[in-house]
Amino acid sequence: MQSIKIVIIGGGVGGLSAANALIDEGQKPLIIEAGTYPAYKVCGEFVSPEALPILKKWGIKPTRSINSIQFKNKKEKSFLLKISKHGGALSRTDLEDALRNRVLENDITLYEGVRVLHIDKSDDGYKLILSNDKIIHTEKILISAGRFFTKNGKKPETKYVGYKAHFTGKQIDSLIMHMHPDGYFGFLPLEDGKMNVTLLQKKGQDHVFEEMKNHIKDLDMWESGWVKVEAPNFGIKKNPIERNIYYLGDACASITGLGVTLALLSGVVAGKTCQSLSSNEYKKLWMKNFYNPITMGIFIHRLSLHSLTLPLFFLLNRINTQITHYFFTKTRVKRLYFT
Ligand SMILES: Cc1cc2nc3c(=O)[nH]c(=O)nc-3n(C[C@H](O)[C@H](O)[C@H](O)COP(=O)(O)OP(=O)(O)OC[C@H]3O[C@@H](n4cnc5c(N)ncnc54)[C@H](O)[C@@H]3O)c2cc1C
Repeated sequence: MQSIKIVIIGGGVGGLSAANALIDEGQKPLIIEAGTYPAYKVCGEFVSPEALPILKKWGIKPTRSINSIQFKNKKEKSFLLKISKHGGALSRTDLEDALRNRVLENDITLYEGVRVLHIDKSDDGYKLILSNDKIIHTEKILISAGRFFTKNGKKPETKYVGYKAHFTGKQIDSLIMHMHPDGYFGFLPLEDGKMNVTLLQKKGQDHVFEEMKNHIKDLDMWESGWVKVEAPNFGIKKNPIERNIYYLGDACASITGLGVTLALLSGVVAGKTCQSLSSNEYKKLWMKNFYNPITMGIFIHRLSLHSLTLPLFFLLNRINTQITHYFFTKTRVKRLYFT
């Protein structure tokens, strides 16, 4: 049986960021990822401004700067939100590859295509049973395995379905969001005339996908084709608090474009504090850092997917875009607390 001080379950943005932060602290965790790289995941690929300084520190640069978001409704009525502190655009595959490369350059072991099947308590830590029949013993576990990972193994109920693909053939300069009470889809410029097309719709409301297809019928698909995912309800994971198990990563509503940043920043907070804090203290710190933007994100997600509040939202913003600016600002992470 192998014994390791810190094991990270999940090698997405959250897990790889925790590993990179631990490298900065002089640690060598083991990462266990069920999938393989390059990974093609459903994501709008907007990188919120708060993530840019830490990415820069790790030598990672978005391929585009994003300074504005144009919101459109079904009747093509629109308003423009200028972002005072610019965000970025970066292919999710490239982001995970860059975070993974830094991990590998620092001699960190990363198991790919290996799933953690069971976590058992032992006298002085935890015993992990892996799908490759290995057994690992560890003092601390950082779980960054997305919203489908539950302690009892039951898959959470899904309400939404998401799609993503990359296209070429049209130049756009800002993020364009098409809003509908049954779902929304966005076009984000990436690099060299390429763009990300991502949609989130309520399950069974395929007319939103059909409407989106009308906007891209003259474009050429690039790379992997459509990637599809079932998305569970957004929100804050209710952590089963157990000594030395930390939950980080995926928690946020996609409309706010904060999920990747939240995974990244919570990875940084976990990496910097997990050696000194208990998981209870980490959970409190996590809430202090992220509770307000997440709660506001869930509120906006609900307002934007409602047949009464969405038109009202458009009406108010066409009078004064400061309203959306206010909401956007309230969903950003102001500063990172480490204690
Ligand atoms: C339609 C849609 C659009 C979005 N658009 C944006 C956007 O524009 N900007 C933004 O910031 N966010 C966006 N998000 C949210 C963002 O994609 C998520 O918040 C982000 O994926 C969270 O990253 P993560 O590392 O926590 O989880 P994940 O990327 O899901 O990583 C978890 C990893 O854990 C692995 N894993 C799972 N179980 C196990 C196991 N038992 N053993 C080992 N490994 C395991 C998985 O294979 C996976 O690679 C969007 C989400 C959706 C649904």
